[in-house]
Amino acid sequence: MTSAEHTPSDAGPAAGVRWDLSDLYASPSDPALEADLDRALAGARDFERAYRGRVASQSAHALALAVDALETLNEPVTRALSFASLLFAGDTADPRHGALLQRVQERASEIRNTVVFFELEWVALTDEAAATVLRDPLLARRRHFLESIRRYRAHVLSEPEEKLLEETSNTGRRAFSRLFDEVTTSLRFQLEYAGQVADLSEEEVLSKLHEPDRALRRAAAAALTAGLRTNARLLGFVFNTLVQDKAVLDRLRHFEQPMQDRHLANEIDAASVEALLSACERRYDLVARYYRLKARLLGLGRLEDHDRYAPLPGEVGERSFADAKRIVLDAYGDFSPELATIARDFFERRWIDAELRPGKRGGAFSASTLPRLHPYVLLNYTGNLRDVMTLAHELGHGVHQSLARVQGLFEQDTPLTTAETASVFGEMLVFRRLMREETDPRVRLALLCGKLEDAFATVFRQVAMTRFEESLHAARRAEGELAPERVNDLWLAANRPMFGDSVHLSEDYGWWWLYIPHFVHSPFYCYAYAFGELLVLALLRRYDEEGPAFVPRYVALLAAGGSDAPPHLLRDKVGLDITDPAFWDGGLALLEDLVAQAENLADSLRSNGRA
Ligand SMILES: [Zn+2]
Repeated sequence: MTSAEHTPSDAGPAAGVRWDLSDLYASPSDPALEADLDRALAGARDFERAYRGRVASQSAHALALAVDALETLNEPVTRALSFASLLFAGDTADPRHGALLQRVQERASEIRNTVVFFELEWVALTDEAAATVLRDPLLARRRHFLESIRRYRAHVLSEPEEKLLEETSNTGRRAFSRLFDEVTTSLRFQLEYAGQVADLSEEEVLSKLHEPDRALRRAAAAALTAGLRTNARLLGFVFNTLVQDKAVLDRLRHFEQPMQDRHLANEIDAASVEALLSACERRYDLVARYYRLKARLLGLGRLEDHDRYAPLPGEVGERSFADAKRIVLDAYGDFSPELATIARDFFERRWIDAELRPGKRGGAFSASTLPRLHPYVLLNYTGNLRDVMTLAHELGHGVHQSLARVQGLFEQDTPLTTAETASVFGEMLVFRRLMREETDPRVRLALLCGKLEDAFATVFRQVAMTRFEESLHAARRAEGELAPERVNDLWLAANRPMFGDSVHLSEDYGWWWLYIPHFVHSPFYCYAYAFGELLVLALLRRYDEEGPAFVPRYVALLAAGGSDAPPHLLRDKVGLDITDPAFWDGGLALLEDLVAQAENLADSLRSNGRA
């Protein structure tokens, strides 16, 4: 494909790279979709007839068969949900897509409600009774699944209450979440620059923050702020509603802290997360140290918030999508030909959607579907180095999800904390390969700085975002509905300690929490990124120590998916102990090494008169 001149409004350097969803269904009106939903509902009703009121009295063998049946009946509904959400992500502006997603979610709720009795009866068993049946080797394959349902024991409600919550969430929480997507994907930003006004999408205006021209970056920041402010009333209302919805659910489900349900879902305890967060906060000095270096390299005094993503002198220009594909597959292949083969399928079998399109969801993701199918990757490829890294990142997810399909529908997906393992690892492989190939010290310095900025965005920024969310939920619970300006203050208060005096965060920057989807879609998601990055640095250290012997152990870790709690899998597969509070300091020390390398490289360039 060509990357000839394109205006901000066309499809970008990955023009034509669209996914083919026909492995799921031929079209939104494919009769197979409706048939799948009918089949799932019929399966759910059969399941109910067979097991309602009898879960406690099942033998281990019968219980294993019940879980198999539950998995089988969930497959067609998962297929329909995958298709509807991917179709919607690809074009949120088409009202038929929103309508399909809504309908499938409503049907899925009906199916879920029909079988919810199973989990409720299972958690109602006493610990002794559950332990007795779980000890049976016939249940070995389902032990983790059944045990992990029981961790919600203190937090489930009665069956009518659960059904009510499930059904009303389609017009409550899920509807607000979708409204946020529809509003943010349709936002337009007026960029005033060099006497012209350009009408840009969120993706496009954000990409202008990476431009070398400071005036253009400043104009892009102003355009983003103005667009967000204009919609602050609506988006702020969505935030307030969802934060309060969570407060109500937490109260009803007896969660004492806003983060508690996330920790439970992540199969991690609060103390381990706090150890991670505070270990990172103790090293905020690295962020300030790096941005002081960056200011020097850019020849600027103090950096403004819109200077954070300014490119450095050695940064290379636009990369075609074909080039990005080659770089990523080569880097994966150096590490493991098996991983490269899996990643190559995504390109060749059209499981990637990379072009820019109006109405397409921003950002990037990889979505697992059914174990017998394959994941799909969405990105918005604009051609900079960051996008190459995003491709490496999402394919890491894709490879991880592909390998873990052997665990079946219920255990193929990992908790969020280890979900970022292969993605961040993939980015590191690409970074290392680029560093190996590059001989020009100026380009090497730019690559190193790019890696540092990514790592900081993944570690420290996510910790600051978690602290922001903590303060947001606490403030809403204590003060009632929050004015956007109040949330701006919380956002700035959480971000300022990270930069110290190295970057000036303006009042305008205060509005920038408004477009971050994680706060809306998955509260307290963000710490998983910091967890993932620091875990990956530890894994890389293992790889450097062990060489090729590490590769099959790593692949086995990925293939284990969500079949056990992360601390157990990491201990058993690769010998890492993440319950040790000092564990996180190892990865942070590696980041400090990278900062020192960048400083040294900058100094040697300066003494050679080339900086
Ligand atoms: Zn990711």
